[in-house]
Amino acid sequence: MASEVPSPPAKAPEPELAPYVLEGARSSRSKCKSCRKKIDKGVLRLGVLIEGPYGIGYLWHHLTCAAKRRLDDVEEAYATEAWKQAKEPPEEYPTIEELRKVNEEAEEKRQARKQIPWFEVDPSGRAKCKNCGDIMEKGSLRVVLGREVEFGTQYRTMPIHVHPACVAEEMEKADCGTEADGFEHSVRQNSQGLSEEQIDSLLKEIGELPESEGDDDAPPL
Ligand SMILES: [Zn+2]
Ligand SMILES: [Zn+2]
Repeated sequence: MASEVPSPPAKAPEPELAPYVLEGARSSRSKCKSCRKKIDKGVLRLGVLIEGPYGIGYLWHHLTCAAKRRLDDVEEAYATEAWKQAKEPPEEYPTIEELRKVNEEAEEKRQARKQIPWFEVDPSGRAKCKNCGDIMEKGSLRVVLGREVEFGTQYRTMPIHVHPACVAEEMEKADCGTEADGFEHSVRQNSQGLSEEQIDSLLKEIGELPESEGDDDAPPL
């Protein structure tokens, strides 16, 4: 444990340790707290100041790992220009936009592993509705549908986010990978962390779905 914290824990804390440091690793001894792998010398790492039982010190993450899993820390580090805290400030580092992109892609991958469709709370306030193109408000409830995307010779269903009010329209599209049939059943099963009331009100907001050409009595031809 102690060997992973570069500044010796027993040492009295320096008067002003910045909450974040962004630098090229000064040795190959630190380990990334996100992926648990070694951080090679020279590779960009983000130090997050932690006060633990042994004192104050930095826990390190590969910058890209931090972007994937703790973007809030990265945002904060960039806002405070954490590279200026490095003993040898790195000559090059990615822009915050690039790191947000890394985060978005990681998030998409995580979501692809979940079952589509589902309801969720918008975590960032940065994503745009894939139907109408408007930004979705942070904390608002949104719907995740599937979209058929062609990869070479294969089609894959990727998760896309839409406003509840945009669901019906999105489902009319040819590349929509989520069907109205069984939609309610699926979202009730797949939406984690939402209450029954939230799910009910979302279903109400979504309203009538297209497709339903004879889904109840008349079997489809
Ligand atoms: Zn890592
Ligand atoms: Zn929309």
